[in-house]
Amino acid sequence: MKVVIVGGVAGGASVATRLRRMDEQAEIVLLERGPYISFANCGLPYYIGGIIAERDALLVQTPEALHAVFAVDARIHQNVRSIDRQSKTVTVEDERTGETYTQSYDKLVLSPGAAPLVPPLPGADLPGVFTLRTIPNVDAIKAFVDQQQPERAVIVGGGFIGIELAENLRHRGLDVTVVEMLNQILAPLDYEMAVIVQQHLQSRGVHLGLGDGIKAIEKQGNGLRVVLQSGRALQADLALLAVGVRPENELAREAGLTLGIRGTIATNDYLQTSDPDIYAIGDAAQVLHLVTHKPVNIALAGPASRQGRLVADHITGKPVRYRGSQGTSIVKIFDLAAASTGLNERQLEREGIAYQSATIHTANHAGYYPGAAQMALKLLFASDDGKILGAQIVGKEGVDKRIDVIAVAMRAGLTVFDLEEVELAYAPPFGSARDPVNIAGFVASNMLRGDSKMLYWDDVGALDPEKDFLLDVRDPSEVAAGMIEGALNIPLPQLRDRLRELPEDRRIVVYCQAGQRAYYAYRVLVQEGFDAVNLSGGYKTYSHAVWRQTEFDEYSEVE
Ligand SMILES: Cc1cc2nc3c(=O)[nH]c(=O)nc-3n(C[C@H](O)[C@H](O)[C@H](O)COP(=O)(O)OP(=O)(O)OC[C@H]3O[C@@H](n4cnc5c(N)ncnc54)[C@H](O)[C@@H]3O)c2cc1C
Repeated sequence: MKVVIVGGVAGGASVATRLRRMDEQAEIVLLERGPYISFANCGLPYYIGGIIAERDALLVQTPEALHAVFAVDARIHQNVRSIDRQSKTVTVEDERTGETYTQSYDKLVLSPGAAPLVPPLPGADLPGVFTLRTIPNVDAIKAFVDQQQPERAVIVGGGFIGIELAENLRHRGLDVTVVEMLNQILAPLDYEMAVIVQQHLQSRGVHLGLGDGIKAIEKQGNGLRVVLQSGRALQADLALLAVGVRPENELAREAGLTLGIRGTIATNDYLQTSDPDIYAIGDAAQVLHLVTHKPVNIALAGPASRQGRLVADHITGKPVRYRGSQGTSIVKIFDLAAASTGLNERQLEREGIAYQSATIHTANHAGYYPGAAQMALKLLFASDDGKILGAQIVGKEGVDKRIDVIAVAMRAGLTVFDLEEVELAYAPPFGSARDPVNIAGFVASNMLRGDSKMLYWDDVGALDPEKDFLLDVRDPSEVAAGMIEGALNIPLPQLRDRLRELPEDRRIVVYCQAGQRAYYAYRVLVQEGFDAVNLSGGYKTYSHAVWRQTEFDEYSEVE
């Protein structure tokens, strides 16, 4: 069995090593176009920021080590130019000599990844304008930052890579602006969750230009002038384009393999392409989504690596099947972490899936143990059976653990009723007897059982004073720091004595800071005969959602 793998990083290297463990006789050839195999793409931003100090730390494997330990014929600087499916060969160009040769295969695995999108705009190729994917890319950016000592950076794109770079360039002392076409950064998050991150970025001196795109980059003196679609312009010494990626599909397309959504390589449940002897994995491949069972392209390292392992198993005859990707991800933003899994509201609406959400704000561990930090956790679940559809968490500590618990629950097909019952490790430094995951389960289950009724932040604007009555049950000190206009404040401890102040012919929309006290109030009200509803996530979520960032004009020049 001769297996040829195109691409030697996350997916490709994983195929090669698993295959060797399963088949000592297989001939395994790993062809990588670049100068390195199996490097730490995910670590690249942190090397620029100096958090990862040693460049060598990024180089996880060498061809020599892969050969010594796994007997894999790993070849760098080898660009696979074409596939001949008839003769089962690939044509390879040695990038150092320019010579080409033919390599035969029994099974071919494509793991060519995705390339940064470079918008076709004037100036995208100017010195000082970069993209980030490879070790040579990171060397170029690091050298520029070290030697040219740029003072101002513009990052185009508020996705994971853009935001990680923003943090790391701030570490290097640069004045950083992130320009993002959408009205929020980090698209996997829902708007009100992304705003928490935006507030944090702004508190760390990162400027955000939301709802604006880039039109051109011009040379100006020794630096750059980044012209935006709004007509604003930003001075920069360095510009980074991080507007997304496109699957490297040329080989597959030219070989006549079926392509899928957004130019990805279509695969079946075993990650075979339309040619059963050719597999496709990782950023370039189309797979099925765990929740929707529809085609999806998820460019993350975990899926790429696991798909590589699965393909090796399938090649060696194991009865395996890829059960889908769910897009579990996490990103660090200075002191914060933002994580998500499954579908967000936008995606659920697009799919026409009936859902509800429960948002809680709670501490990562017992409040009385020093160092407790708040996290916002939003759980999305099916309106009928409570199946978990997605989750998002933003907070300082313990975000990774909770998103992973929920991600596993989703994979197991669990419901919010199961989250009520999951038994998680607890001692005061680590959690609470009622873990945030349990609490999210309680809130969601209460909703589905009819023990609590919710209203969401984006419903507040549509409240009708003739029919709705806003009740704030927080303490006066909290109210002094801001409240929803028109609300009556009755602190929760006084509620039972002051029910007479509430109209019986209107719906009482009750809120507190995070939702818990409002739930207690809600229970009092409905048992006293009122029609009531609780504002999900409380004033915290509401105030995040209506927060307006510092005006873009303050730091940009208008043409
Ligand atoms: C800066 C950065 C940070 C990231 N951070 C994270 C993170 O924190 N978490 C996360 O989950 N994901 C992260 N990712 C994404 C993650 O790295 C990718 O999802 C993952 O590497 C995809 O694996 P892959 O095998 O499909 O592609 P890659 O790992 O990109 O490997 C593809 C390789 O194929 C080679 N190749 C392409 N065409 C050919 C050809 N014709 N011939 C020979 N070789 C070829 C390329 O040179 C490339 O080295 C990050 C990516 C970047 C760029």
